[in-house]
Amino acid sequence: MAELVGPLMRGALASLGIDAVTPADTGRAPVESCDLIIVGGGPAGLAAGLYAARMNLKTVLVDGGPIGGQLLNTELIEDYPGFESISGGDLASKMGDHARKFGLDIREFEPVEAVEVRPGGTKVARLESGRELHAPALVFAAGGRPRKLDVPGEAEFAGRGVSYCAVCDGAFFQGQELAVVGGGDAALEEADFLTRYASRVTVIHRRGQLRAQPILQARARANPSIDFILGARVREIHGNGVVSGVRLERDHEERDLPVSGVFILVGFLPNSLHLPAQVERDAAGYVLTGRDLQTSVEGLWAVGDVRAQLTRQVATAVGDGTTAAVAVSQYLEGLRDRRRDVALSPARERASARSET
Ligand SMILES: Cc1cc2nc3c(=O)[nH]c(=O)nc-3n(C[C@H](O)[C@H](O)[C@H](O)COP(=O)(O)OP(=O)(O)OC[C@H]3O[C@@H](n4cnc5c(N)ncnc54)[C@H](O)[C@@H]3O)c2cc1C
Repeated sequence: MAELVGPLMRGALASLGIDAVTPADTGRAPVESCDLIIVGGGPAGLAAGLYAARMNLKTVLVDGGPIGGQLLNTELIEDYPGFESISGGDLASKMGDHARKFGLDIREFEPVEAVEVRPGGTKVARLESGRELHAPALVFAAGGRPRKLDVPGEAEFAGRGVSYCAVCDGAFFQGQELAVVGGGDAALEEADFLTRYASRVTVIHRRGQLRAQPILQARARANPSIDFILGARVREIHGNGVVSGVRLERDHEERDLPVSGVFILVGFLPNSLHLPAQVERDAAGYVLTGRDLQTSVEGLWAVGDVRAQLTRQVATAVGDGTTAAVAVSQYLEGLRDRRRDVALSPARERASARSET
């Protein structure tokens, strides 16, 4: 029979005189306990898991699909330190193997239906399978996904000219002509950024007016390498193996714009809906965190693309996971100390009462 409570919590419970042996996890009990639950097995969750497991916390990581997250949608990564060029799939496997080596319990194809905070502060990951994971700490690393245009050619040319991330892929388009689809802050910032590489960038927006802040609009308009096509919709992305152009519709007329790359920057959807209502989010749904990446709920951290921050990159996701794991370890230590103090206080009171008489 396996003990399902991790060493730190076992110590804390023992100090309270509670026997921490719980039902076996062999065959997966309906309710399992551990020190730390990690929801999401992208770079942020895997980094948190590696650090936590290496710090001897009994950690269970669940992912709704295979581990890797957005890495699995990325052809080549050339900006993760230590790897001049590596496929997203290879980097995902390496991260998974590394974390497993330190004892991380990774469970793939285990979607989380909801995260709950029970009275007393226990964090619960309710799995779609009907089982539950319980722990005093939870790191939420569910990432997000770029909003799609859903036009013909978008999926076919993803990674072959269609991109959702200028910082990630801009450098692949040196001296080429590009289209940026979108009219918000991200679209204009990224269009400006892409002119470092591209010979010309055309911003295509479906409305007659851009939505971006005036200062970003002014900067983009002042950039001689940026053109604008407003009030136009992308109907198709075409090419032959790689992107060669987009078909646009404006005022019921269609035309082709020849480009080698299309950056679709029409929004990003953070996967934060599974969190309880008391976890504070910004207007776009990104989770707000403090300096140690703890959310507005004690014992619940948010890391990587799901949290509000300046950039969304593999390196920042990994950094987030690292910070959160260290913070979790300190939190569990503190929890243990607090519980030991509570357990000792009646004895202390009795001792002090005796000394006063
Ligand atoms: C096309 C593309 C190309 C990119 N290229 C680069 C690049 O070249 N360099 C770079 O640094 N960055 C790149 N990025 C960004 C980078 O991939 C992300 O910043 C990074 O993957 C974020 O990691 P994460 O762990 O926060 O989230 P994700 O990678 O999104 O992982 C989240 C994980 O959570 C899981 N999950 C979600 N909901 C649930 C649930 N309810 N239950 C259980 N599991 C759940 C998902 O299945 C997923 O595995 C790219 C992104 C995209 C989309």
